[in-house]
Amino acid sequence: MLDIDKIRSEFPILKRVVNGKPLVYFDNAATSQTPQVVIDAIVDYYANYNANIHRGVHTLSQEATDKYEEARLKIRKHFNAKKSHEIIFTSGTTHSINIIATGFTSLLNKDDEIIVSALEHHSNIVPWQMLCDRTGAILKVIPMNEEGELVLSEYDNLLSNKTKLVFVNHISNALGTINPIEEIIEKAHAVGAAILIDGAQACPHIKPDVQKLNVDFYVASAHKIYGPTGVGMLYGKEEWLNKLPPYQGGGEMIKEVTFEKTTYADLPHKFEAGTPNICGGIAFGVALDYANAIGFDTIEKREMELLKYGTEKLLEIEGLKIYGTSKNKTAVISFNIDKIHPYDIGTIVDKLGVAVRTGHHCAQPIMDFYKIPGTVRASFSFYNTKEEIDVLVSAVKKAKMMLN
Ligand SMILES: *Cc1c(COP(=O)(O)O)cnc(C)c1O
Repeated sequence: MLDIDKIRSEFPILKRVVNGKPLVYFDNAATSQTPQVVIDAIVDYYANYNANIHRGVHTLSQEATDKYEEARLKIRKHFNAKKSHEIIFTSGTTHSINIIATGFTSLLNKDDEIIVSALEHHSNIVPWQMLCDRTGAILKVIPMNEEGELVLSEYDNLLSNKTKLVFVNHISNALGTINPIEEIIEKAHAVGAAILIDGAQACPHIKPDVQKLNVDFYVASAHKIYGPTGVGMLYGKEEWLNKLPPYQGGGEMIKEVTFEKTTYADLPHKFEAGTPNICGGIAFGVALDYANAIGFDTIEKREMELLKYGTEKLLEIEGLKIYGTSKNKTAVISFNIDKIHPYDIGTIVDKLGVAVRTGHHCAQPIMDFYKIPGTVRASFSFYNTKEEIDVLVSAVKKAKMMLN
């Protein structure tokens, strides 16, 4: 069981007052909040051992290098990668995806096919469109149904020996749908395609095992897993990372440089040009320690309770429609009321201290599917409470009264 008062006291931001009201933070799918231990790790780095890593012989540089590499080991362990050099530090999910999309330029031919899903975030659509422009490859889309689930029978029809790459998110950020990635991965491999899973939205709730999933690439951002912004990870199977060319040229990623020829460094450094977000990487490791100490089973159980309660309470409001009604979903509730614009609801509930997201959630194709401009999205984390959901519900009722 979760000692919720203790947990909440570990997140200093949850004590904030917004517009004269206690903050109710329901925008966890955009970024999660950061516990004090993670904030302390950031302060400790800058106060005590801020130095550039890998190149220095001096003590501070070695301390920083050790902590940074220790964080890589924590990430390896968390995701159960076979080797620590299969974990690449990046600036986040978007950066990780772009490393792969750019890398595949030399591996694809005209008329090869890439499959994505209708539930993708823009950061998972645009890099593949750009890759298709460069290579003449063709983008195919697994469609979705009214519940916000992928139609897997259509996926079967899209797969062929022309398929070279499949890209699907683990959990949809706009609707919360948990996609059946085990099956999607297996089917991609059956036609010889590589598969990349975007775990940005899954990792706050689920602990993925990349070896068990047998996935080729898996990506995530620290800031959605109780860590800082500007840092993330790319897991890739060693043989794939060796096949892909480096993304950026610069310091750290080379073995030897002359004006005639440069040889690249071994993994993981081949993909880590320049001075990285050292402090962010270390804090990412601390955030994973924090979440693992609570336990992902406990986190999931608590969030499912909040989802059930929130769904029931919100549906009591007349005219409220929830988008994304899969039985397999995380604690994300995307909704609209009658013809009221989501932005107007978001603005009014903010006046009452409630932070929700409004708009297309970087997933315009999903909004087009439902023929709506966007939704109001309330996304819960384990540190939220039923009392906070009551505040949301009464704020939404008030907004409805004012806007109708
Ligand atoms: C947030 C998110 C991204 C983008 O992550 P960044 O940290 O902004 O790079 C990609 N995909 C999904 C599903 C997301 O939720």
